[in-house]
Formats: sequence, structure tokens, C-alpha cells
Amino acid sequence: MDTKDKEQEIVVEERHKQEKSVWEEKGISRRDFMRFCTAMSAALALPVTFAPKIARALDEVQRPTLVWLEFQDCAGNTEALLRASNPSPAQIVLDVLSVDYHETIMAAAGHQAEEALMKTVREQRGKYIAVVEGSIPMKDGGVYCCIGGKSALDLAREVCGNAFATIAVGTCAAYGGIPAAAPNPTGAVGVKDAVPGATVINLPGCPLNPDNLTATVVHYLTFGKLPNTDSQGRPLFAYGKRIHDNCERRPHFDAGQYVEQWGDSEHRKGHCLYKMGCKGPETWHNCPIQRYNEKTNWPVGAGHGCVGCSEANFWDTMTPFYRRLPNVPGFGIEYTADQIGAGLAIATAAAFAGHGIISALKKDKGGEGKKED
Ligand code: SF4
Repeated sequence: MDTKDKEQEIVVEERHKQEKSVWEEKGISRRDFMRFCTAMSAALALPVTFAPKIARALDEVQRPTLVWLEFQDCAGNTEALLRASNPSPAQIVLDVLSVDYHETIMAAAGHQAEEALMKTVREQRGKYIAVVEGSIPMKDGGVYCCIGGKSALDLAREVCGNAFATIAVGTCAAYGGIPAAAPNPTGAVGVKDAVPGATVINLPGCPLNPDNLTATVVHYLTFGKLPNTDSQGRPLFAYGKRIHDNCERRPHFDAGQYVEQWGDSEHRKGHCLYKMGCKGPETWHNCPIQRYNEKTNWPVGAGHGCVGCSEANFWDTMTPFYRRLPNVPGFGIEYTADQIGAGLAIATAAAFAGHGIISALKKDKGGEGKKED
């Protein structure tokens, strides 16, 4: 931290001590607010010394407008955000942002609500943030999802095409998700495919981890720009490492201690779920770090293998969920998320089923994976 930052930090600290902050007026204590800012710096993989800078940004920033669209979805991402911890990231972020449109939580309805959305698009062109939940059907002119007389496709093009940036929350909005699974009857796609010219940050997951949405918004508010992403548009702070790299069961994987049957003694001891079909070795997400439900737990921690829900087309490429991945021991270290993404693009479903993405990558490089046991 440079001298200027330190001086500003002292000013902010002093002001917080002397006056009731806007957060305290909203029922969030200074201690909880600073704890939140520290958690955000950790979520963004920043040193804890950035917490005061984040606090300053959230304290002083002008409220950017956010509109939240829901298309082909289950509202699971909205639920995840609204069920978040105390002080709720939703509370903090929604207080910082001016949420002009969110079908699930707004009081307005009908034409009044649609007018609020279009008013934002007209009057804040290029300045507002759009959040999209759910996939967008492209087939038959987009008739399979219509809101207020407009197709999801037309709405996405109008709203996301004129936004400063769009955050696609959940795997459906990022890649099409469950609605896009074969045979994809509605021609469902993610936002980036529906609105190719839009600036899109993908936060896949089923549902997304709300901490990652909060951290993305906080990054924008603090630094005035969007976080760096991988080739699939996912922020590196959240999707830069594999589940397998941070899994608490990893020592058991390395020691060859595997669950062989649900409920066996290895399962009860918390051993590795690789042989039960865990897709953690090929899934890029910070689930083991951020966890869910006030950081209580996450799927692998609760005893179920990762199903790869933050990867594109996971319903088609990661199934059967309970069949083990081939060729995991010894691979992976030398590959990045982008190379895996490229592998996904070149590997056919048949190649995946038979040999796996990494194996396909190795073959592409002239190498060979180890044989399955
Ligand atoms: S295979 Fe799954 S359970 Fe085993 S260490 Fe990797 S992520 Fe964890």
C-alpha cells in the first residue's frame, strides 16, 4: 500500500469512528462491514490490505444502476443471493447498487415494471450493469420464452447490448445450462452467444456462488473495471483453479484412499470421491474455498462428488455423473483453464466418454494419458 492509500485509509477509519456510517444507518455494524470488505479482498485473491480501499469505494461510490433479467431458469441464483450470509452480501451490494428492475424481488409489476426497465436502457445507455439469470432460447425466433410481449432474445439484445457490462449468473445464462442439454429443444444458449457484441462476465455454477457475484461487483466499484477472465469469460479470481486443487479430500486422492461405495467406511472417513464420479479434477471453480450457506459446506464436503456444474455443457459432457473420470492420476498440472477450454471445443462427446478431455489434449500434443485402473 502506498503513502496516499495509507493516508486515505486513516481518513476513512477516522470518519467511521466519528460518525455513524451509511452502513450503520442500514443496520450493518462497522465491524461487520469491515469483515465483509476483508472477505471480499480474500474472495478477489487480493492482500487483506485492500480491505480499506474496498470500504472506501463502497462508502463513496455513486450507486450504479443494475437490472436483473430472468429467462429460462429456476430462479436458483436469485435464491442463492438472497439466502446469503449476515451481513448479507445481497444487502450490501443491493444497497450500493440501484436495482431498477428485478422481476423476482421488485414491487412493480406489468407495464409499470417493463417501463422501468426500458427507462434505464434509454436514459443510462452504456452505464448500467445487466445481470442475466437463465438461458435464452433462439429456436423459432425465440418464442419459447417471452416477457411483457417480447422474446428473451429481443430483451437480451436490447438490454445487454446497451449495458456497460452484463454478468451472466449461473450456468444457464453463461452457457445454456440444463435447457441447452441435448436435444436442446428450444435452441437455448448463454448470453454471449445470444448477444455476441456485449461485454459479458460469466459466473457459471448451479447455482452461482453469490460471493463471486458480490466480489465481481465490488471489483468493478473498487477498481473501475471488470476482473480479468479466462477464455470462457470467467473471472480468474473465482475460476482460476480446479476444484481438485483446493479440495479437502485431495490428500486422500494423492494417497490412493478412495470411496468405493456410497456409505462404505472410506465414505464415512471422508476419503476421495474420484471413483464415485467426482468431476473436481476437470472443473474450474472456487467452491472449496467460498462454499455455500454462510460458508457452512459445499457438495464434496457434504459427501457427494462434484458434477462439474460450472463447466460449459456439463449436462452432456460430465454425465454419467457417477462414472469416474478416466486418466486423472498424474495429469492436469501442466494444463491451464484455457487449454482445457480449447480441449472441450476440440474433443467430441465420444472422445470424452472414451478418453477424457485431458487425454484428448495429451493426444493433441502427441502424449498419452495413463490407463484406467
Ligand atoms: S477427485 Fe473430487 S473428491 Fe477427490 S480430491 Fe479431487 S475434487 Fe476432491
